[in-house]
Amino acid sequence: MKIVIIGSGYVGLVAGACFAETGNEVVCVDNNEAKIERLRKGIMPIYEPGLDVLVKTNLAAGRLSFTQDLSEAVRDADAAFIAVGTPPRATDGHADMKYVYAVARSLAEKATGDLVVVNKSTVPVGTGDEVERILRAAGRDIRFSVVSNPEFLREGVAINDFMRPDRIVIGSEDEWAREIISRIYDAGAFEGVPILQTSRRSAELLKYAANAFLAMKITFINEIADLCEAVGGDVRDVAHGIGLDSRIGEKFLNAGPGYGGSCFPKDTLAISKTARDYRVQLRTVETVIQVNEHRKRAMALRVVDACNGNVRGKTIAVLGLAFKADTDDMRDSPAIPVIQALQDFGAIVRAYDPEAMDNARAILGNVEYVNDPYDVANGADAVVVLTEWSAFRDLNLQKLRSRVRLPLLVDLRNIYDEEAVTEAGFEYWCIGRKNTG
Ligand code: NAD
Repeated sequence: MKIVIIGSGYVGLVAGACFAETGNEVVCVDNNEAKIERLRKGIMPIYEPGLDVLVKTNLAAGRLSFTQDLSEAVRDADAAFIAVGTPPRATDGHADMKYVYAVARSLAEKATGDLVVVNKSTVPVGTGDEVERILRAAGRDIRFSVVSNPEFLREGVAINDFMRPDRIVIGSEDEWAREIISRIYDAGAFEGVPILQTSRRSAELLKYAANAFLAMKITFINEIADLCEAVGGDVRDVAHGIGLDSRIGEKFLNAGPGYGGSCFPKDTLAISKTARDYRVQLRTVETVIQVNEHRKRAMALRVVDACNGNVRGKTIAVLGLAFKADTDDMRDSPAIPVIQALQDFGAIVRAYDPEAMDNARAILGNVEYVNDPYDVANGADAVVVLTEWSAFRDLNLQKLRSRVRLPLLVDLRNIYDEEAVTEAGFEYWCIGRKNTG
């Protein structure tokens, strides 16, 4: 099959490389010229484990190419996947569909033959209808069919998630389009993966519902962590105990500083806004958004508490900036509000992250960035863990202790064993467990 992917970001690039790997002819399009130039040379615009090798192999095999020119890319294509961003609109928080609709207008103009247009971006219910309207409004003598095929990959393990997903959702009422998409996913690589055929609207909604549920799960365990601290429990034991119930499941029960990233914050907001437009109130989701929002600044207050109620003029060493491990993605990372709050309270913040510092610099200008996880702690009044990178789990805590001015370790990701931390001479502040501070 000949596939065009429009938008070569975290989703589009992974999808393009994986579809090429499974034997399709794939052209990835992006309107960012510098990105395309670099991709042609095999230079990745993002950090995603394994992606560079997959891209280079498929470039060399001639199955994958990159261009800015949609007209050239879409020529004789069987399907065009839209994988551009759908960020919250600054004015009102609704998902901003301007990038998706711009692509739809370009496709309407540039398609050369019958084309299945696939929405891989996360889009509000009804977007497929609007994309179809835009395509038809061009009055071309071309058969267009719009499918919703939401993506569930997680950054950091995106290739595995794409190749071995829990399910593939194909939202379409059109036999022809279903057939094309089924053929794209038919290669041996996807064998055994459940394929769920739904209406387009159900597929659109399903993606948001999945993310809202996961955000709710995280928020729930975060509140249980607060209760554990109040009553003297250990949230790790509680999470394990409830997770063994197969109706609940063990995943996504790690208490922490609140969810962030490029999906959960915007998708919970978007589904609650969509619901209101249909005169339905998703009270659970609205509460989750509110609780999560408050939590991030509360985490900064925890650092203040650890520092005897005052961080003015103190140096806080931050380990981890990305919204989670194994990505360089800083979008809506909890590290941003936590660091900003600490700065509001007068702290001097120094930070280290294995991959996200370049992206962080663009958001948090007044932070001192350091290229080593031990150097960041030099003379610090407290060390704060904000991302659960496995490299941080493996740090030599004695060595870290030898660098700080005051031995305070605030672990907002619960990655350390209390005994190891206290043995190294730190006072330990963590989440949903006994603090030794
Ligand atoms: P991204 O910002 O990393 O990538 C979007 C890309 O689209 C950018 O490179 C941008 O330059 C390009 N672009 C924008 N307008 C364009 C146009 N008119 N023509 C060509 N290229 C254009 O975004 P992302 O993280 O890949 O997310 C894309 C969509 O997938 C979003 O709707 C998101 O919610 C959804 N999604 C993301 C993830 C994730 O983990 N990142 C997971 C599942 C679903």
